[in-house]
Amino acid sequence: NATRLIGKTVIVTGASSGIGAATAVLFAKAGSNVILVARRQEILKQVADQCLAAHKESGLTQGGKFATVQLDVSDKTQVAGFLDKVPQDLRDIDILVNNAGFVLGLDRIGDIKDSDIEGMFATNVFGLISMTQLLVREFKKKQAGHVINLGSIAGREPYVGGSVYNATKSAVRAFTGALLRELVNTPIRVTEIDPGLVETEFSIVRFRGDTSAAKKVYEGLEPLTGYDIAEEIVWAASRPPHVNIADVLVYPVNQA
Ligand code: NDP
Repeated sequence: NATRLIGKTVIVTGASSGIGAATAVLFAKAGSNVILVARRQEILKQVADQCLAAHKESGLTQGGKFATVQLDVSDKTQVAGFLDKVPQDLRDIDILVNNAGFVLGLDRIGDIKDSDIEGMFATNVFGLISMTQLLVREFKKKQAGHVINLGSIAGREPYVGGSVYNATKSAVRAFTGALLRELVNTPIRVTEIDPGLVETEFSIVRFRGDTSAAKKVYEGLEPLTGYDIAEEIVWAASRPPHVNIADVLVYPVNQA
């Protein structure tokens, strides 16, 4: 029941694009307040405008506060100062969606650049862990909260050319599973959402701006959209407080 999300405050990292942008909009539609986080401020502001429009369309009077915070989750100093950048009236946070992440290339191990290895781990793993540490401390103080982490099918089924990205998403899976067990018997919930192929900017980033290489990834199948995954995130967040959706794997029908 999405009415449980009315008036809740949600952080969505990687909200400037794809799954994160769709997630911000669906929480807005459900009457939540959203703190949109990413590095590209201008695009983030456009998504915040979409959130305002979605909230208005919902006709709901509660919620509907939106803030954008420029943050590189891989920068520990920036993460440490993050809450100071959140407007005072949005600091009582209920849900953290750790969605920021990316893959670069399809390179064999000998060809992967050190900077790409470090970059993927810095955002997908260390950024996710830093944000989780920061918010779990807050959730413990208020004795409520929900951490929702974006893993991937890539963390469950490694493939040739994906070694480092596979390793980052396996790390997310191990971290999330341990956190779930660590927080058992507390009112803090932990969820992992693992998508299959979703058509977003993800492949454009992967192929360093080569849009035709990116398009080829989805040839011959109907990929998921950001909204398909956002619906699962919002669904998991809107379960009754005693229900924890631990783990969700979502494929397009053409993939298995
Ligand atoms: P997009 O490339 O469309 O979006 C990625 C988002 O992450 C952008 O908003 C980007 O914003 C943000 N981001 C990247 N690095 C950082 C950083 N260091 N700090 C803050 N924000 C950052 O990809 P998707 O929406 O597809 O991906 C979202 C998540 O879903 C990722 O974790 C991805 O691994 C996962 N996933 C995606 C799949 C797919 O097929 N698309 C499949 C399985 C999982 P900005 O550049 O403005 O910072």
